[in-house]
Amino acid sequence: MSIRVLSGDITEFRADAIVNAANSSLLGGGGVDGAIHRAGGPAILAECRELRRTSFPDGLPTGQAVATGAGSLPATWVVHTVGPVYGRDDAGLLDSCYAESLRVAAELGAKSVAFPLVSAGVYGWPKDDAVRRALRGFAGAPAPVAAIALVLFDPEDVALAGDIAASEG
Ligand code: ADP
Repeated sequence: MSIRVLSGDITEFRADAIVNAANSSLLGGGGVDGAIHRAGGPAILAECRELRRTSFPDGLPTGQAVATGAGSLPATWVVHTVGPVYGRDDAGLLDSCYAESLRVAAELGAKSVAFPLVSAGVYGWPKDDAVRRALRGFAGAPAPVAAIALVLFDPEDVALAGDIAASEG
């Protein structure tokens, strides 16, 4: 199992599946969600609308994950997960985002998966705890997932993540 932490724009990342820090509407938003829909084109949103109609009329619950195609992105699939809001939702739901996203990616047959730092933007999760939960979540990845990247948009977050990875052993 390879786990890498790097800085970059996840929409440019070549992995079988990239994870979107979506909101429960699945209909797009700001941050990484907006970037994925902008870069991937309307096909992703069309699939999200269909998922809302067929499977999630009330929206995707926090901590769960669901996949669509990746439109014109270099990835094959986008796994949409809804992170918890800091100060409102249970931290276990952030662990669930990682576990569920990996489960969905593995079911599709993804060998490589890239994650943003779920909940650490608009949803306000402290970055150190968000990184710790991400790294712990990656450790239990089911086969055939063999390579995971945590793609951090802010370059200074990479140093923070490196310190946390070192302290986690
Ligand atoms: P949330 O609502 O779950 O907090 P955000 O999209 O606001 O989601 O932020 C989650 C993380 O994604 C933040 O650390 C933010 O800096 C990062 N981010 C924003 N755009 C991108 C991108 N294009 N690639 C990777 N990470 C991104």
